Amino acid sequence: MPLTLLHNATTLVTMDAQRREIADGALTFDGQEILWVGRSEDLPLHLAAEVTQRIDARGKLVLPGFVNTHHHFYQTLTRVIPAAQDAVLFDWLKILYPIWAELTPGDVQISTQLALTELLLSGCTTSSDHHYLWPNGSRLDDQFEAAERVGVRFHGARGSMSLGESAGGLPPDRVTEPEAAILQDCRRVVESFHNPRRFAMRRVVIAPCSPFSVTPELMRESAALARSFGPGMNVHLHTHLAETADEEAFCLEKFGYRPGDYAQELGWTGDDVWHAHCVHLNQPEIENFAATRTGVAHCPTSNLKLASGVAPVRAMRDAGVAVGLGVDGSASNDGSHLLAEVRQCLLLQRLGLSLSKPLGNPKAMTAREALEIATLGGAAILGRDDIGSLAPGMAADIIAFDLNALTYAGGAVHDPVAALVFCQPQPVDLAIINGRLLVKEGVPLNIDLPTLTDNHNRAARALLVRAGRI
Ligand code: ZN
Repeated sequence: MPLTLLHNATTLVTMDAQRREIADGALTFDGQEILWVGRSEDLPLHLAAEVTQRIDARGKLVLPGFVNTHHHFYQTLTRVIPAAQDAVLFDWLKILYPIWAELTPGDVQISTQLALTELLLSGCTTSSDHHYLWPNGSRLDDQFEAAERVGVRFHGARGSMSLGESAGGLPPDRVTEPEAAILQDCRRVVESFHNPRRFAMRRVVIAPCSPFSVTPELMRESAALARSFGPGMNVHLHTHLAETADEEAFCLEKFGYRPGDYAQELGWTGDDVWHAHCVHLNQPEIENFAATRTGVAHCPTSNLKLASGVAPVRAMRDAGVAVGLGVDGSASNDGSHLLAEVRQCLLLQRLGLSLSKPLGNPKAMTAREALEIATLGGAAILGRDDIGSLAPGMAADIIAFDLNALTYAGGAVHDPVAALVFCQPQPVDLAIINGRLLVKEGVPLNIDLPTLTDNHNRAARALLVRAGRI
């Protein structure tokens, strides 16, 4: 394998056990694996002799790639639909479900490519996607195919909905599936695509949509199915939980539990489970998530847009809950910029802890903690021990930002790491995933952006025509 040296980085953020930030940083990687990390001048001679490719990171801030733990890629096709712009979650869903019912396999492919490209350019190197309606023959296979084309490490969450309107659920019946068919397809996609090994580019997650769109039986059977493969297979579970106050009321009325207690009752706690949002967990639920090592995907922009509330991330982190970051679906964030989400995470925690007090606490979230949530935090909740930090033995998932950008002027002089979070988010300058150079000088090497955007926009227009909206 050719040995690549990346060197001369202004600062290299390792996120290793000591959280080292190395000035004039360098690393080498051999194929997909990092071999050495240190100062450029300390490169061992035996490695220097073997270097076949050099990447000069002068003027750049180098970090481990960010991990996106919650998204709905298909929603890029329904960004900023006027009728849904100012709605709360349940109304927003009811407006959009009939449009999503018209999705085709081609729509799933093009939106997956678009969302992953957008994520890649914002510093994301691993992403999960929670896709939970499969009309017109679309399958998780379409997403894996598209993800391979983009080159981002992909955890495809095979979502599902089974509780239609006629049974007291929220979605129209025609976007739900029979539970036996859901479980059968979940098994098929695990057997077809899931790779439990280190450096895997493909994993499958079993992911019923939410407490208000599936039955308790499907939640239990999904957990049993994921765990039936055995702990070494690392098949994780994911769903939405405690996103809004409406959902809390729904769970109390329909199931007799608060959302966090309902998850516990269903067997949906443990280090193989992560829940999106968790805005409305109370302190005992938070402590239970910490004790059971249940993960949380925090989605700050989506929580702001849908006015869902401020997730108690400070309290979760203090209690020891594993928290990662998610941009959430493109119709409730309208952007897939993971670095922007890091910034939003910091700002929202500072606001949240200030709402009940006359004098707030700016230490509620620091820039470095927000970056840790986006890297190590995401890796932990996806069950990965090979991504999230730059250290020997870890995957070569590396990003760099150009500190000479206008927006970092001044900030990059005083504290380049914090500048990345506090200043206006920029696109990535360089991205390497699994040892493959995918973005160079801000340009994706394997994707023609105008063609991708054109094809995507044509699909978005056609989708609305089919749904009778235009
Ligand atoms: Zn979501």
